Amino acid sequence: MGKPHALLLPYPAQGHVIPLMELAHCLVDRGFKITFVNTEFTHKRLVAALSKELEDADQIHLVTIPDGLGPGEDRNDFVLQIEAMLKFMPGFLETLIEDTNKESENKITCFIADASIAWSFEVAEKMGVRLGAFWPANAGTLATMLSIPKLIKEGIIGEDGTAKRREMIKLSPGMPAMSTAHFAWNCFGDSKTEEVVFNYTVRNNQALEFAEHIICNSIYELEQPVFTYAPNILPVGPLLTGQRSGKLIGHFWPEDATCTTWLDQQPANSVVYVAFGSFTIFNQRQFQELADGLEIAGRPFLWVVRPGLTDGETDALPHGFRDKVEGRGRMVGWCPQQKVLAHPSIACFISHCGWNSTMEGVRNGVPFLCWPYFADQFLNQSYISDIWRTGLALAPDDSGIVSSKEIKSKVEELLANDEFRGRAMALKEMANKSVKKGGSSFENFNSFVDAMKEF
Ligand code: UDP
Repeated sequence: MGKPHALLLPYPAQGHVIPLMELAHCLVDRGFKITFVNTEFTHKRLVAALSKELEDADQIHLVTIPDGLGPGEDRNDFVLQIEAMLKFMPGFLETLIEDTNKESENKITCFIADASIAWSFEVAEKMGVRLGAFWPANAGTLATMLSIPKLIKEGIIGEDGTAKRREMIKLSPGMPAMSTAHFAWNCFGDSKTEEVVFNYTVRNNQALEFAEHIICNSIYELEQPVFTYAPNILPVGPLLTGQRSGKLIGHFWPEDATCTTWLDQQPANSVVYVAFGSFTIFNQRQFQELADGLEIAGRPFLWVVRPGLTDGETDALPHGFRDKVEGRGRMVGWCPQQKVLAHPSIACFISHCGWNSTMEGVRNGVPFLCWPYFADQFLNQSYISDIWRTGLALAPDDSGIVSSKEIKSKVEELLANDEFRGRAMALKEMANKSVKKGGSSFENFNSFVDAMKEF
């Protein structure tokens, strides 16, 4: 019998493509042949950001389907994106599957999609192959989304998803408290987007029922009460393969690999690493305040200033900033974050608390300063600062700005107290154990692999 052949489909965003790519590598390690489906738009970015030697070197076969949007349309507009996705992508996916299956040697034997793109299961279900869903964020957020009927029944949200009031709720007594203002469908600040995202989530929940298994990039020990509440979600994380060399990672921006050479020259445990993922946007004032904070903190820093990080000029740095931090501060457009976090010079991570960044910090024993921006990032912050206690939250002032003084004082507070690093190292050890033989994630991944191999 030939190799099992998995078709993998991520949601077209950076924070989804990277972990799905990691899952792909883990499946290759377990004997799978992988066809990885990106939208044409994503694929162009990925290839443009790729180093030449990687383009053909990997065992993962990259294919594309259109996302249904025109060249000039705004792919950060969730309404446009979701409407085009639902209207056009099912047809494109169906054609791709039919074309792939025409070659008898190449038939797809299982389909694994991002749990946030579950409409694809309605298409793939017709193939009669194994269907698996992968959730790349914290399990608590998925459990909340799947609990929409319960939230409506208990009067926490209305039939349209709107929270009845702003309050902290718990899905079950042991679960972390969540603000109704931070429900994944409730935090866009405009009612049209929230309506479209809520309806999409309800539909997504229904389609997810086709998936025989739902795995997620978390660890049982990290979110234990959630897995008791929602035992159908299996944690298999952390699936970090981005530290390996010579592998496709799925970056949308070319990485500045020279920053690791710069890190080599810094003392152990000295550098403040600052990065806010792929779509956080800062206003000019906040951006400058952050720059001032890094300057007055007086420590070496590596700061990812991604193209589009600010809502105005990209380089709206305070006057004379570069001269003042010369030699001590390094700014890059995009870096190999997993390698950076694994570097011994890193002292702490100022982060927007995206789940991938959170897991990458956990895996490397790095303490956090939390600066959430959106949706599940607030729950990730409470995990870090209140539950695991491996970091501190940065508090905005009355005008909503995190001041330079707040940044300086929290960096000092975090680094002066070894207990944060100690607890972070204990989580690192736990994470390492979970992916080794006998560990919870290892065993869960094994049973998922066994199920997906049956064809
Ligand atoms: N990342 C990276 N280099 C950077 C900044 C980010 O490789 O300079 C990666 C990071 O390692 C993570 C992903 O981009 O895997 C961001 O995902 P996350 O969930 O943290 O945030 P999102 O982009 O979804 O908000």
